[in-house]
Amino acid sequence: MSDFSPSTAERLSSVHHSIANAEKASGRPTGDVTLVAVSKTFPAEDIRPALEAGQRIFGENRVQEAHGKWPGLQEQYSDVELHLIGPLQSNKVSEAVSLFDVIETLDREKLARSLAAHREKGHSLPDLFVQVNTGAEPQKAGVLPQEADAFIALCRDELGLPLVGLMCIPPVEEEPALHFALLEKIARRNGLAKLSMGMSGDFETAIEFGATLVRVGSAIFGARTPA
Ligand SMILES: *Cc1c(COP(=O)(O)O)cnc(C)c1O
Repeated sequence: MSDFSPSTAERLSSVHHSIANAEKASGRPTGDVTLVAVSKTFPAEDIRPALEAGQRIFGENRVQEAHGKWPGLQEQYSDVELHLIGPLQSNKVSEAVSLFDVIETLDREKLARSLAAHREKGHSLPDLFVQVNTGAEPQKAGVLPQEADAFIALCRDELGLPLVGLMCIPPVEEEPALHFALLEKIARRNGLAKLSMGMSGDFETAIEFGATLVRVGSAIFGARTPA
């Protein structure tokens, strides 16, 4: 490691500049895009510099891991907004709902029904995104594109869930733009305003295609050690 490697605050600032440039290039107003800083795998002491630099919206992919590190940080930074961006098991709904402000990974009927049942017991639910498996990858979570309209209708109209948008993770080997365009099209025809798409390698492209949230991890916190 060189002594001149940028700090988390510097990398965060650089991501903000890139977002602002991409907004401008797409003719979108500054501040149109929300940055979700993906802090998965990083311990609390690595997250603190981002909090000190003013970042308040964070993404985590595991309920258990988030539960271990965020309540402590939130004692000091009470205005943090936490997004769940990884798979949620139906039996973890209660824990996830109490910890997360937004769940971006609503991906199947069983989970939708568990969330609805949780609300029936008198709990309010976080804002929800439906995850769409735009590349129809067998190993990846998310509803298939051709099933998205029906699933959205089930969640929103039948179960009355607080659905605000769609989320996708394009296949690694494919041109992400096609996936971003597909997600945008599904959101538009269903009247959903928010689009969570774009990560460290492709968030500028995602902004061009209408992302309202970008989920950026390694460009802010540095490389993750493989799990
Ligand atoms: C890890 C992760 C990210 C961030 O990925 P980077 O390439 O580190 O920016 C974004 N979205 C999801 C769902 C993730 O799991």
